[in-house]
Amino acid sequence: MRVIISSLLSVAAIILCQSCNGPASPAMATSNAKPDVLASHTDSTTSPATDFFQYANGGWFKKNPIPSDETSYGIGELVQRELSEKLRQINEEMEKKAATSGVEQQVGDFWHSAMDSAGIEGMGVKPLQPELDRINALKSAEEVMLQAAHMHAFGIGAFFEEGVSQDAKNSEMEAYYMNQGGLGMPNRDYYLKTDARTVGIRTAYLKHIAKTFILCGVDSVQAEKKATEVLKFETALAKASRKLEDLREPYKNYNKIAIINLNSIAPKTNWTLCLQTIGVKNLDSVIVGQPEFYTTLDKLVNTTPLPVLKDYLSFHLVNSLSEYLSTAFFNESFGFYRKTLRGQEQPRPRWRRALEYEHSAMGEAVGKLFVKEYFSQNAKKRYETLVVNVKNAYKTRMQQLTWMSSETKQKAINKLESITYKVGYPEHWRDYSSLKIDRGPLVLNMIRASQWFNNYQLNKLGKPVNRTEWDMTPQTYNAYYNPSNNEIVLPAAMMSVPGYKDEELDDALVYGYTAASTVGHEITHGFDDEGRKYDEKGNLHNWWVPQDSVEFVKRAQVLVKQFNGIIPIDTMHINGEATLGENLADLGGVLIGLDAFKQTDTYKKREKISGLTPLQRFFLGYSLGWLLEQRPERLANQLLVDVHSPAKYRVNGIFPNIPDFYTAFSIKPTDKMYIPDSMRVHLW
Ligand SMILES: [Zn+2]
Repeated sequence: MRVIISSLLSVAAIILCQSCNGPASPAMATSNAKPDVLASHTDSTTSPATDFFQYANGGWFKKNPIPSDETSYGIGELVQRELSEKLRQINEEMEKKAATSGVEQQVGDFWHSAMDSAGIEGMGVKPLQPELDRINALKSAEEVMLQAAHMHAFGIGAFFEEGVSQDAKNSEMEAYYMNQGGLGMPNRDYYLKTDARTVGIRTAYLKHIAKTFILCGVDSVQAEKKATEVLKFETALAKASRKLEDLREPYKNYNKIAIINLNSIAPKTNWTLCLQTIGVKNLDSVIVGQPEFYTTLDKLVNTTPLPVLKDYLSFHLVNSLSEYLSTAFFNESFGFYRKTLRGQEQPRPRWRRALEYEHSAMGEAVGKLFVKEYFSQNAKKRYETLVVNVKNAYKTRMQQLTWMSSETKQKAINKLESITYKVGYPEHWRDYSSLKIDRGPLVLNMIRASQWFNNYQLNKLGKPVNRTEWDMTPQTYNAYYNPSNNEIVLPAAMMSVPGYKDEELDDALVYGYTAASTVGHEITHGFDDEGRKYDEKGNLHNWWVPQDSVEFVKRAQVLVKQFNGIIPIDTMHINGEATLGENLADLGGVLIGLDAFKQTDTYKKREKISGLTPLQRFFLGYSLGWLLEQRPERLANQLLVDVHSPAKYRVNGIFPNIPDFYTAFSIKPTDKMYIPDSMRVHLW
């Protein structure tokens, strides 16, 4: 998935996996004679020339329907399931051990509080009553904003979003970002689109708000009135919010404003006091992503009746924390956010949810307990070498580009050579010693963990950037590129294939699965439509000769058009503009991963494995990274909120642009997977 960007705006996502010694997964059987993972997944009834994604993965899909407690199922879920078994053991041991200090105490006590279903049931909403009382006592719009700020300090994103991240124009410094937010549904589209699916979701959301009030003790007539007003308020925020594709323009979403001048965009809000309440210090300016959003928010908060604002805050408080409360609250939250929005039929068992909560509360602490046994030094070396090989391949390819001037080319190569990489797990681990975890209510542990993280982030302000930090845990099936550090980060879990040890994976598979879909993908993010706007030091700064920029945009536009033409469900198209960065990274990843693969002995020897040539195995290895089936609800959700294209099109939408794909599988002009050369993307 390969994803990411640490700024608050551009969050991408993604994935891949890694091998461990856990129980064999049901999907990828192991035995003394293990089947070839690639050949055993293929669907012999589908031609690679018709639908490559189905050909590569369809055999596996037929044997592995989506379980009722998943919204999608594929390689990422398999990796997570394998990991979960290991993590569960560690947690259970720690709970029994009942250490009185250190990370073992925190892990053991957290597990106890998360698994204590009887205790959670008995408390109902009581742990949140002090906060609900505070909201109830508010007397003015100013107090409402201060309460929202107070809630931000423990992770409730009422009215807006904010956080600490490297300054996009000065990567040496940490900055404080303020962005649009405050919605209970995933983004503006859910409030404004008029297709039947979205209208249905909106109706369900209205009921969900009302039901949440009823669970808090409000009668049903009042609850419906409150819900209608809360939805109306959020719809006004949604209208003032930018579209997904417009959030990917880094210059337009960077507006540095002195704190004392914030009243120029939001005259009635006392931002100095609000920021103090959140805990912002050592700072005289902030970066506002969408100033017009704050202008509207300011107006709305000062014209909306006080009871509606209080209802909005109460709902967001309870709604954000419902899954840690008693069954009635959990079920209500599950019903809307998991079932209606994403199609999940059943909740996961409590122990798996406990692991998710723990990951969100103190993931690195848990990661540290098991990672060294999980990711061998040999594997670390293998993937570090892979990164070097992929970088070299990209350099050669850049040198040969005919459309780019030598001036831009030199700067691009300079940036490429400056890309640093982190593989496996952090050298320095986060110190959680000041986080208080006990065996009391789960929801209070979660609130304290959010407060801890808020303080941890805010403490960075005014200090030099710590470039050794990781924004993902080693047990995360994902990876990212951080433009501010000009670095790629590859967590250990991402390289694994469940049921197989790393040394059992041939180079053809690994170059497709990891070098192309992850390493090449992340490196290309440094040169996608957004990443190319940052220089080798990680600063937003235009280093392109103007004509080369024009040429880049023209060539990238071909990919926008290709993806705009894809309709995965109902009448919903892929958003070619919003997904451009990820699609470019996929395209670049395959091209440079393949170039790097061509330098290996495996490629040169041309020996077949399970009847497949090295080149065929490369393309199948890449497709293994996108082994994923989704429920229709989840697919529709992804099309509205995600800057990544659905898995199928990360394969079928990309390969027709790769010349070697045609030769590897003898694709002919009359085949579905064929597009004429004149319509292919010629960028990297
Ligand atoms: Zn990505």
